[in-house]
Parts: sequence; structure tokens; C-alpha cells
Amino acid sequence: MINRWSHSRLSTYESCPKKAFYRYVKKHPEESHPAAERGLKIHKLAEQYIKNELEEMPKQLYLFYEGFEQLREDYKKGDVCVEEKWAFNLSWEKSDWDGEDTWGRYVVDAFVQDGPHAKVIDFKTGRYKEYNEGYKNQCALYACCVFKRFPELKTIQTELWYLDHHKITKYSFTREEAAEKQKDFHARGLALTTDEVFDTTPSEFSCRFCAFTKICKDNFYERKT
Ligand code: SF4
Repeated sequence: MINRWSHSRLSTYESCPKKAFYRYVKKHPEESHPAAERGLKIHKLAEQYIKNELEEMPKQLYLFYEGFEQLREDYKKGDVCVEEKWAFNLSWEKSDWDGEDTWGRYVVDAFVQDGPHAKVIDFKTGRYKEYNEGYKNQCALYACCVFKRFPELKTIQTELWYLDHHKITKYSFTREEAAEKQKDFHARGLALTTDEVFDTTPSEFSCRFCAFTKICKDNFYERKT
């Protein structure tokens, strides 16, 4: 069973339950991707810069020079949370990352609160797509979680900062909109965390990016040959 979920676990599970089983239950080793490693490195640099742990802004952040300067200033004033690991229980109430009742987890790259309004910023590296359904879904989940964590908030703006492209995609949510979406996420999170079968759902798309094609006999390409 997979007892805890996150946006990335949900994406994996909905792409193919068996893929989630291999990754999160069996923990089969996977090759690391250079692009993923680069992303982690840049996230770390961004965190260090905002927290004033680096004197010079790393060149990887230059396209958002003003944005990172502002975050650094606001962090000094105590108005910004960076790389926070937040979690919630089955009632979507705040819990500890490793709490016994923890059901869902999410990491916020940057969170800025201004009275009843808040901004959640997610740093993206790599390709830019004007519209990305998965990222929009991720933003909606942020809104659901953050509204529950901060009952005083009235609006949340989520921003995807494409650090390699100087592009920002924004989605705004009211508390009422997020409450509607939360019902959907709740059902999807339950499907993931109660599954004991983990069926395969082979397809050209999900199998093309699967690290387990060699051990999965249902993989789309195996079936075609
Ligand atoms: S190879 Fe395809 S069917 Fe098998 S686990 Fe991966 S995504 Fe699922």
C-alpha cells in the first residue's frame, strides 16, 4: 500500500498504478536523469540565495533577477517561506511531515503572504509549455492545501517561474474554488492510498517514460512485438 500521497505520486499513479507500485512500494532502483539532477541543484541554489546564504546570485537565476532579489528582501523581513515541507491528514488538517496521521505532503518552493492574500511560487527548470495540464493540476492542489493550512486566506495566486525561459504562468484561486477542487483531489488521493492491486494501464505515452519497462511484461512496446 502507498499510505501517503503527493502531486508527483498522484501523477505517477494516474499514469499507471503499476508504475507507482514499482517506484513507491517495491522501490526498484531507477537511473537518475541529468535534467532532474540539474533541477534539484537549481532549486537548492534558489533556496540558498533567498535565505541569504550566497553572496552572489547564481547565474541560473539571472532571468528572474528582480524576482529573486525581492524574495530575498522579503525573506529578511520574515514574509517568505522557502522550500517548506508541509503535510496534512485525512481531514486536510495540518500535520507533521512524518506524523503518524500524515496523509498528503507537498513542498512549497516559495510562499509569500500579504494579509488575506498569498502567493505560492514554483520554480520550473527545463522545457516551457504555454499550457501544461499537469502543472495546472499541481497549482490547484497547492491552493487546496494552503487554504486549509491558513484559514485567514481569501485568495491564492500560484505562479510557475520557468527559470530557463523568463516566463511565468499564473493561476488564481478563491477559497470556494479550491474547496470544489479539493473534493476531486480527495477522491483521487483515496484511490491511490487504498489501492491493493495496482493494475497496469499500458499506453504508448505512459510506457515511453517508464523506468520499469524491462521488468513489466505488460509494457506497451513488449505487447506490440
Ligand atoms: S511499462 Fe507501462 S504498463 Fe508497465 S509499469 Fe510501466 S507504464 Fe505501467
